[in-house]
This record gives sequence, C-alpha cells and structure tokens, in this order.
Amino acid sequence: MTSSPRTVSILGVTGSVGQSTLSVIEDLRGQGAEIEVAAVTAGGNLPALADACRRLRPKFAAVADPDALAPAREALAGLGVEVGAGLSALEEAGARPSDWIMSAIVGAAGLAPTMAAVRRGAAVALANKECLVCAGPLFIEAAKTHGARLLPVDSEHNAIFQVMTHPDRVEKLTLTASGGPFRSATLEAMGRATPDQACAHPRWSMGRKISVDSATLMNKGLELIEASYLFGFPEEKIDIIVHPESVVHSFVHYVDGSVLAQLGTPDMRIPIAYALSWPDRAPVSTTRLDLATLGALTFEAPDAQRFPALDLCRQALRAGAATTTAVSAANEIAVSAFLDGKIGFLNICRVVEEAMTALDRSDPGLIAKSPTSFDQVAAVDQAARGAAQRIAGRLAAA
Ligand code: NDP
Repeated sequence: MTSSPRTVSILGVTGSVGQSTLSVIEDLRGQGAEIEVAAVTAGGNLPALADACRRLRPKFAAVADPDALAPAREALAGLGVEVGAGLSALEEAGARPSDWIMSAIVGAAGLAPTMAAVRRGAAVALANKECLVCAGPLFIEAAKTHGARLLPVDSEHNAIFQVMTHPDRVEKLTLTASGGPFRSATLEAMGRATPDQACAHPRWSMGRKISVDSATLMNKGLELIEASYLFGFPEEKIDIIVHPESVVHSFVHYVDGSVLAQLGTPDMRIPIAYALSWPDRAPVSTTRLDLATLGALTFEAPDAQRFPALDLCRQALRAGAATTTAVSAANEIAVSAFLDGKIGFLNICRVVEEAMTALDRSDPGLIAKSPTSFDQVAAVDQAARGAAQRIAGRLAAA
C-alpha cells in the first residue's frame, strides 16, 4: 500500500461519510498500510468521537461546541489525544499537517476548516458539497493558488473524476439521481411526509440533512452546482437523469459520441477509497457489483413539478455565485425546520424560493453579484439564513 498517504485527517469523523472513511482506513491498515491520523473533528457526539479516537489514534481531536472542551477531554481521557473546542479548534484540525484530509462536516460549517486545509495545499477529499455551493469560484481559486488538490468524493463527482480522460473534449455531463424515497409518490403524499419517511432513502444510508435533500432532489440541484464549479461546465451542459438502482454514478459524454460512466454498488467506501488512494487504486472490501442478479438498469427523466429544487438550483447557477450561496444557506434552515417538525415537506423548496425573492427585494444586488471575498460569502449566507428563518416561522405559524 505504498500509494496511500502516510498522514490523514478527517473532518466530521462521527458522521456517515466520516465513519465510512474510518472503515476504509481500518481496512487498509489491516492489510499493512501505515496510515497515521493527524486530526479528527465532530459536532457534539462525544461517544462516537471517543470510539473513533480509540480506533484511529489521532494526535488531535476537535469538537464544534466551544463549551464542550471539558466534557470532550473527559470523554477522550487516556487516549493520548490533544483536545480542542470551538471554531478555531476545527480550523486547527484542518490546518495541522497531513498529506490528505477528508472534508465531511455537514453544511456551511465545513467551509472554514476545509479552507484551512486548502490554504496549506493539502490533498482535500471533498464530500462536503456545501463548500463549493457556498463559495464555489473563491474556493476553486484558493485551491489553485495554494496548490491544493481537490478530490471529489460525492459519488457522482467522483465518477466523473474517474472517467474524465479528456477534459477539453467533453460535450456534456449527466448526473444520475436515485430519485429518493418519493420518486413515485403523489404530491399529496409528499405534502404529508414525516421526517422519518423523508430520511428513509431507498439506496444510501446517509446523515439526515443530505437524506432530506435527496428526498426533495435539492441534493441533485446542489450537486449540479458543485459539478459546474468543480469541472467548469455551465448548467445547460449538465443533465440530470433519475436512475433508481444507483449503480451508474454519472456519465461523461465526449465529442465523438462516446459516453463513459463509472459503476459500482451504492457504497460510499468506493469513492472514498478512490480519493484516498488516487492516483492508484487500493483493494478495499466493498460489496461487489453483480449485474446478472441486478438484471436491469433503468433511467427516467426527473419530474420538475414535484421536484422544483432542480429548476431552483439551475436558476441560481445562472444568476451567479451569491445566489448559489443563498440557496444553500436558505435550504439548511428549511431542512432543519422540516426535521424539527415546524414546516411540511413541500414547504422546504417554498422557503428557499421565497427567501431568494425576499433577499432580492430587501437588498437589490446582494445576490446578483459574485462575492469577491469569504467575508462577502458569509454576509450573503447570513442574510439568506435570516430571510429563510422568517419565512419558515411564518409558514410554521400558519
Ligand atoms: P452526517 O450528518 O452523518 O455527519 C455530519 C458530520 O458533521 C458529523 O461528524 C457531525 O458531528 C459534524 N457536524 C455537524 N454539525 C457540525 C458543526 N456545526 N460544526 C462541525 N461539525 C459538525 O452527514 P454526512 O456524513 O451524511 O454528510 C457529510 C457531508 O458529506 C455533507 O456535506 C453531505 O452533503 C456530503 N455527502 C454525504 C454523503 C453520504 O453518503 N452521507 C454522500 C456524498 C456527500 P456530530 O456527529 O458530532 O454531530
């Protein structure tokens, strides 16, 4: 396993992607790979963080809550781990030297720690799509300036990365979407959907925020934005197709009519292992694809009426980088209001859409411009969160 980096860090080790990363590292270590862990982070799940530290033996562990330093120290006592708390500790986890870092904190909270890794020119395995949706052009520019290698981990972007053999000969990209738990549901049924129903994804086991995003197809819209910034394609050159089996993870269409795709079982350890071993491939014990048993792969066009998030994200991408920042921030608020039982499922996209209109009215020009600094990104993010809170509050009271 000479191709594996010697030292790695995991931002968001207690989450779904974080745990899959931990599993890949344990698998490779079991085969004799020498992988040291510089730093790990968590939000507030101390038992899961302690378990990860026991298994990975990192040098440094950070928790998001600034008041959780004492309990975190207690939870990690005896493990020989230096402990930090609060945003500066998360950023320190990103900044500590490592060859490779997994960015798997959920939401815009992942941006600052990931940027700390980008600024030191690390190889950054990017699961957190919000970094790109929030601050796409600035984030890509910073990676170029600091020589940070971005390794896409989202399965669709990882697939494109794997088959992007001739970047200047690509006609278009097609992102596949599972369709989520409400692929065949009526609008009435979707209107009554509970958080647990929305999080019951038919193919992937993921955190609750991304699971709800998959149910609204906002996840696919955010991925469209992510793909546009990551691979430099305008939205009209990125198609979306529903593929319920989640076996083909995306397509790249070339100028000669050839279409390349990457296939695999829906198991995040596959793109994670690829990002970890890139440019090599490492042997990992993931479930192997059995096409004969599967029998058929099916595809269908997404239903724009039941899933307005797709058009919303296309419009945001056309409007510019501040609008994609605002969409992502407003969506975080709307999803959290839905998960807290305050608004209905169909109101998630309504909150996002109305927040865009409200922002445009209250501060004309704010979301029409491209932010030129991370401070401007933060200002748009905050304004969008404020507008979304007010709209979600009004809908909750109605
Ligand atoms: P989870 O909700 O399972 O995990 C999120 C992680 O972020 C946890 O470690 C959590 O800590 C931590 N966290 C939560 N809030 C904060 C905060 N405010 N500050 C610092 N850390 C925080 O999410 P997923 O693993 O599902 O997703 C992570 C990212 O990867 C998302 O951006 C998602 O879109 C993307 N992604 C996920 C995929 C998947 O299959 N799950 C596939 C492709 C992309 P704690 O546990 O302590 O709360």
